[in-house]
Amino acid sequence: MDKWTIKTTSPEETAQLAERVGELVQAGDVLTLEGDLGAGKTSFTKGLAKGLGVTRVVSSPTFTIIKEYKGRIPLYHMDVYRLDEGAEELGLEEYFEGEGVSVIEWASIIREQLPNDRLDIVVTHAGDTTRELSFFARGIRYEQLCKELATWATH
Ligand code: ADP
Ligand code: MG
Repeated sequence: MDKWTIKTTSPEETAQLAERVGELVQAGDVLTLEGDLGAGKTSFTKGLAKGLGVTRVVSSPTFTIIKEYKGRIPLYHMDVYRLDEGAEELGLEEYFEGEGVSVIEWASIIREQLPNDRLDIVVTHAGDTTRELSFFARGIRYEQLCKELATWATH
């Protein structure tokens, strides 16, 4: 399954879905999040962190660009919105290939540096508290992940 779309009707529902993603991810996984301001990218990451067993409060890393959290495996939460130049100096590859899972908000800004294999997640407003989440699996690993998510969501 290389594309999967689901609608959520509350922040809690998005968090639950993301929590499941947090349970399924493995070391070296790379997930990108695209969507307008207020779409739910950070909310999704918070849910994912919960699924990873992160106990610290996850906040938007807009000004720090990268925040690292301890969980079952580390979470590298990135928000590259304010990054115009100097992406090369951040050593992003080391995070992408590291022991943890990378979650990147506004990832299209660093498109050239992203690994080919990754899970792209696009969040769009579909109403006041309704969001459409589309998962694009780039590579077999993520196709499998999408399949597991879809199975989980229909039970
Ligand atoms: P972003 O990081 O994309 O700018 P945030 O996650 O910070 O967005 O904010 C999303 C906002 O939308 C939160 O205030 C959240 O409560 C609200 N919201 C309403 N409905 C949903 C939903 N179904 N899924 C996720 N967030 C939702
Ligand atoms: Mg955000």
